[in-house]
Amino acid sequence: MINGTSNRMIPKLGLEARGVTPVADGMNLEWKEMLPSGPGFRNMGNTCFMNASLQCLLHTPPLARVLAQKMHSRHLSKHHKGVSGFCSFCAFEELYPQVHNSSRYKRVVTPTSFVQNQRVICRTFRPGRQEDAHEFVRHVLYGMVKSSLKSSGRKGMDRTHNHKDEMRSIVHNMFGGCLQNSVTCTSCKAVSVVSELFLDLSLDIYNSNTVASALEKFTAVERLDGNNKYRCDKCKSYVSALK
Ligand SMILES: [Zn+2]
Ligand SMILES: [Zn+2]
Repeated sequence: MINGTSNRMIPKLGLEARGVTPVADGMNLEWKEMLPSGPGFRNMGNTCFMNASLQCLLHTPPLARVLAQKMHSRHLSKHHKGVSGFCSFCAFEELYPQVHNSSRYKRVVTPTSFVQNQRVICRTFRPGRQEDAHEFVRHVLYGMVKSSLKSSGRKGMDRTHNHKDEMRSIVHNMFGGCLQNSVTCTSCKAVSVVSELFLDLSLDIYNSNTVASALEKFTAVERLDGNNKYRCDKCKSYVSALK
C-alpha cells in the first residue's frame, strides 16, 4: 500500500509523466499536531497481521480525518448494513475514538468487529490462522469501496462497471491512483496504452532503501525481447518493444 499517491511526492519524482497518477488533488497528508502514542491492539489469536494493518490505516492522516468527521456514517440511512452485514467503514469509525481520543485512551484496544468478521472481509481467511497483512489491507479497502458505493446507491465493484463510480469513492481518492502502461513497438513505433485504477502497487523493496526509489524502479522502462517479445497488432507479429 502506498499512502503516498501523494500530490507532493508524485510531481517530485516525475512519475506522472511515467504513468502513475494520483486520483485526488489537494489531499492533506500531514497531522495537524503530534499526539502521544496510541494504545496497542490485543492479539486475539494470530491476529497480529490484522492489528498492524489496522494501526497503519488508523494513522493514515486523510483516513483519520474522514473517520473523525464521521463522513461515512453521517449520510447513511438507519438500514445501512454494509456488505453481508459488515461495513469496514462503520467498524473503523467505531474504533477511531478508542485510538485517537486521548481522554479515552486505554492501554489495549480489542478490534472485535474486524476479528469477528474476518471471513466477510476475505472469504479465504480463517479465524485463528495467520494471514497476510497486505491481503487484509487490500480486502478492507475494497470492502470500504463497496460499502461507499452501496451506501450511495451505486453498484459494488466488478470488472465491468464504470470507472467513474470508483473515482467517486472516497477510498480511491485517498489510496488510489491510475496506472498507465504504454508499450512502444520498436519496429513500427506504434504505442499501445492501457490505463487501470489501482489501490495498491507491488514494489520491490529488496533493492531499494526508500519508497521513492522503489517507485522509480517500478516505473523504469523495460525492454520486452527474447522469450518475452510483444505481439504488435500493427506489425501482426512478435517484436521487441519498450514498456
Ligand atoms: Zn458503513
Ligand atoms: Zn509494430
